[in-house]
Amino acid sequence: MRITVLSGGVGGANFLKGLLAAVGPEDEVTVIGNTADDIWLFGLRVCPDLDTVMYTLGGGIDPERKWGRTDETWNAKEELTAYGVDKTWFGLGDRDLATHLIRTQMWHDGVGLAAITERLCDRWQPGVRLLPMTEDQVETHIGIDGADGIDTIHFQEYWIRLGARVPVREVTFTGAGEATAGPGVVEAILSADRVILPPSNPIVSIGAILSVAPVATALRTTSAPVVGVSPIIGGAAVRGMADQLLTGLGIEISAAGVARHHGARTSGGVLDGWLVDGADAGELSAIETAGIAAKAVPLYMTDDATTAQLARDTLALADSLAAGR
Ligand code: GDP
Ligand code: CA
Repeated sequence: MRITVLSGGVGGANFLKGLLAAVGPEDEVTVIGNTADDIWLFGLRVCPDLDTVMYTLGGGIDPERKWGRTDETWNAKEELTAYGVDKTWFGLGDRDLATHLIRTQMWHDGVGLAAITERLCDRWQPGVRLLPMTEDQVETHIGIDGADGIDTIHFQEYWIRLGARVPVREVTFTGAGEATAGPGVVEAILSADRVILPPSNPIVSIGAILSVAPVATALRTTSAPVVGVSPIIGGAAVRGMADQLLTGLGIEISAAGVARHHGARTSGGVLDGWLVDGADAGELSAIETAGIAAKAVPLYMTDDATTAQLARDTLALADSLAAGR
């Protein structure tokens, strides 16, 4: 079975851990990673979501923070702060810096991000093929209230420097209009037996990946069933800033609201199936009415066992859709 997963950072990476526990040794998992969170910092190319997937699946992630490296130290960050320079709000740990140094050196040598990521994964052996959604520079920008109208800032500035504490007026993906899909991405969707949207942020992770038109087109046309997992449980995001973004864009903060936002493939959207938590079972009929097969199962990824069970439930919904064709 070839399974292709579109992933952001923490939510996607946790789900993928469960998926790898649930699949057999002959199954192949390909991950299309969000690169719209990527940022240049001190001349370094930083790819937070790709690294979160790579470190999580490779056993290098900090288990409490859920981003960056285990046994991290922060000497470089302290030195940067002592110089009084900007952008020290972004967490660049000493161990993590090595990843960014290698990536940036290869970038300047003209190597594409897909090959760079493959080189980094040679060390981490994440157990999946990790493909950047694009090699072009697509960036998520957030519009917030400024002195004279809307100020547009990089997503990392909104999320980390401002702590997502200011209202969101708009979300744009700069460069997405001209971006092409990364090497292997369209093929991984079209040749997949199953496509999964894990409980990643619907706007800045899944939405960012779908902002690359050839990726969205592949998702709409693949013969594989496309099944997603709600990142919203009981009317709130489990963690992160999805609530604030959905509010800013006028999308209902509910499992059904996000399902309708993604839309049914039968009416131009990207979903065939959608899993909601048992707490949201009351929304199943609304999701079915939108043309999306829906099922309620436990969606909290509290430990390895519940996460693997969620992955099995996701595959089971996809299996039932494939069988019904
Ligand atoms: P990020 O790039 O690190 O923000 O990670 P993702 O975009 O991959 O995932 C963020 C989303 O994961 C958030 O919207 C959360 O609501 C969702 N999430 C986190 N933990 C869980 C969980 O245990 N269950 C579900 N269903 N969603 C979760
Ligand atoms: Ca992210």
